[in-house]
Amino acid sequence: MAFDSGSIGATCEHCQAMFPVAKSAAGSLQNCPECGRATSVGGENDPLWTVIKGAAVLGLVVASVLVYQIGGPVAGAAVFLVGAAILGLVRAAL
Ligand SMILES: [Zn+2]
Repeated sequence: MAFDSGSIGATCEHCQAMFPVAKSAAGSLQNCPECGRATSVGGENDPLWTVIKGAAVLGLVVASVLVYQIGGPVAGAAVFLVGAAILGLVRAAL
């Protein structure tokens, strides 16, 4: 995606045109610049995005527990903190 960091990509549900919208508009209705009809914008309220976030958090917890069992509490906590920081950065970038 070539959109700037303040925008996300949306796809019109009527004509499939792709266009950038403000990140703050995620989950709302926006008028498509191609066909002019209102279309819902995905983003953080998107069911798929919710599944991805859930899977990422679950993966982080599982990885932390595995490292905890192998490397002890300090290593487990370190993996969890680093993973949480990465998830935070990814969330901020989207
Ligand atoms: Zn359209």
